[in-house]
This record gives sequence, structure tokens and C-alpha cells, in this order.
Amino acid sequence: MSEQRVKWVIGNWKMHGRLAENAALLQAVADGASAIGNSIRMAVCVPTPYLAQAQALLSGKPLAWGVQDISPYTHGAYTGEVAAEMAGEFGATLAIVGHSERRAYHAESSELVAAKARRALEADLTPIVCIGETLDEREAGTTESVVGAQLDAVLKLLSVEEAGRIVVAYEPVWAIGTGRSATAEQAQEVHAFLRARLAQKDASLTRVPLLYGGSVKPENALALFGQADIDGGLIGGASLKSEDFLAICEQA
Ligand code: PGA
Repeated sequence: MSEQRVKWVIGNWKMHGRLAENAALLQAVADGASAIGNSIRMAVCVPTPYLAQAQALLSGKPLAWGVQDISPYTHGAYTGEVAAEMAGEFGATLAIVGHSERRAYHAESSELVAAKARRALEADLTPIVCIGETLDEREAGTTESVVGAQLDAVLKLLSVEEAGRIVVAYEPVWAIGTGRSATAEQAQEVHAFLRARLAQKDASLTRVPLLYGGSVKPENALALFGQADIDGGLIGGASLKSEDFLAICEQA
């Protein structure tokens, strides 16, 4: 089946960057993406104020751009929120939803994450739905029930057609920004479980791309991306250096 699935490498800049350094980084990554070509999908999710900059520098390049979160609402009295359509007006085609930092620091529930995923789809953005267990949950042996419930909340809200347009990122919380990646085998085990869970909703959903995230680096990308059910990566820290991000993209 894997030949039918698209490979993705997506950078998540988090709250990093300033205009001048972004210009250099976006230019370098866009040049590298042009050299790599269209065999994989490459994207960067920038802080929202820099969407216009991404649009100016990346239009026409094989490097998409997106946001790191969106509102579950279309418009209204929601101070500080950004609607999916607003991001779309600046050429964004992706929105990360449910990142563990949003779940942890902003108390986002799986139901809210599901609503955001649906909102993204309504605005023609591809939601990158992040799920993952904490270290305590892994050590308690509850990884599958935790990530299964996080995925189920999204699948419950979406039609099969909508679910077929999402990307899922498995990001074990203990591996994010810690330098401690899951091993390729640990990640594959969870990805296989998630693939089966998607198939339970509908056989066509085995084609949903499943990305791994959490301390992906040029040194471990090949082993991770070589696993049968790993379709690429969501890259935090290493997406801030063009050489590292491009070296990871080359291994997808
Ligand atoms: P990391 O972050 O690559 O810095 O571990 C990944 C993420 O949070 O998406």
C-alpha cells in the first residue's frame, strides 16, 4: 500500500523566527525544495504574522506553508483567534491542530481538536492532526488507548470523505524537543496501530499519511522514514536550520 501514499516533511517553527532570519531560512529551504522536486510534499508551518512573508517568498516554489493552530470558529467575538479562511487568504494550505503544546498549555480537548480539523477542511486547509502519549502514559502501558481515543474523537466528527483529507502526526510527548526520539520500531508499532484504527472506520483511510514527530534529525530520519507505516515527519527544532531540514527531506 505504501506506494499509494504521499510522503510529507513538514516543519513546525513554533514561536521562532523574525523577519530577517525567516527570509534567509525560507529562501534556503525553497531553493533546496526546488532541487528535491515534487517526489515528496514539503511544507513549513510558520508563526501566523509571517504568513505574508511566506507567501511572498514561497509562491510558485515546491514548498507549501501553513499555520500552527486555527480557531474552531469562522468569525466573531473571539479575541486573538485566527480563522482558517484568514490563513487561506495568505496562501496557507495546511494547519497543524492539536499539537501537544496546545493540548498541554491551552487545555485543548480532543473534541476541540476535532472541531478545528473540521474547520480546516471546510476552508480547504489540510489539517495536520497531532496525537501522542506522555511518558507516564507510555510507562503505564496505555499508549494505544490514549492515541486511539485522540484519533477516534476526530474520526467521529468527520465523514469518511473528510477523514480522507487529513494528515495524522504521531508525536510522543516525551520525544518532543527532548532529543530523545522514539526508536524506529517504537514509532512503527504505534503507526501500524493507527493505520488499523483508520481502516476500522473505512478501508480507504489506510491511505491517510501518518507522520512521525519528536526529535527527528538528519541522523535518525532514514531509519524512521524507512518503516512501513511512517510516511514522513513533522519537524520542530531541526526545521529551523535549512541544512538539517533539507537533509531530513532528502531521506523521505
Ligand atoms: P521537535 O518537535 O522536532 O523539536 O522534537 C516536533 C514537534 O513538536 O512538532
